[in-house]
Amino acid sequence: MGVYYTHYLIPLDNSFRPEPERIAALIDALTGARFIPRPQAGGGPTYFLDDWGREAAERSTPAAPEPPKPWWKRIFASSAPARTNLLDLVNIHRPFAIPLTEESLAALADRAVTVGWTIEYLFAKGLAYPFEQSPSRDDPPNYRLLIEASEDFRTETIDHYDETGAIDPHCRCGEDLSYMRAPFEDLAIRRLCPSCGASFEPREKLVTFTNGATGESEVIHGGICYRFAVVVDCGKSVPPAIEDGKEGKLSRRFLDTCSEALGVELYELGSYS
Ligand SMILES: [Zn+2]
Repeated sequence: MGVYYTHYLIPLDNSFRPEPERIAALIDALTGARFIPRPQAGGGPTYFLDDWGREAAERSTPAAPEPPKPWWKRIFASSAPARTNLLDLVNIHRPFAIPLTEESLAALADRAVTVGWTIEYLFAKGLAYPFEQSPSRDDPPNYRLLIEASEDFRTETIDHYDETGAIDPHCRCGEDLSYMRAPFEDLAIRRLCPSCGASFEPREKLVTFTNGATGESEVIHGGICYRFAVVVDCGKSVPPAIEDGKEGKLSRRFLDTCSEALGVELYELGSYS
């Protein structure tokens, strides 16, 4: 079975979103602790704004159907113009400059941004693995380390196998605050309710989910719902602890590095799909 695993480190106050300068301090700290490569070592980060994805989706939305053509045009007309592949359009990751430039600072303050490092050849590059249990040197993992920040909440289902662990996106007044982060089918939840003006409080929501490592049913406040997170997108390089039937926990050093740089308490949670 091909498990796809993503690990989230989320502020205990789910609505916390650090200032760009604070995120810059986190990037410095992660670099200093060798969790991400130094800028001059190559393999630099890239970034992506949700708005680019939304614009691309709008551009590639099929136009209204044309009126029927006379039969001879139907036969002789050239084939339909090739529709641009949506994924080609949205897969625009721009280089994220470090040291931070005006452009990188603006990106960190954007409505919804993802900054990502692709980590390959972990051992050869002398980088540190973010999880407690080290991977085998014979089988170095490939993963992406992401920093995500957004105005509204981003959210993820904890266990896609039995569809448990999705947070209830309703406001206290009953309004559904969720919407799609086009063009992917990822969900966002509005920070403020357009009906009653209340702010969405993930902490108030109890989320029940199946722990993918242990198979036990668990309950957690807030689930995976955040305006800021450090994400390890492991893909198929599942952390070794999980391969052993245990939970994948981040190393104390990784947790402390993030928590100290951000100045807030964090909690960790994995998503299986
Ligand atoms: Zn409301």
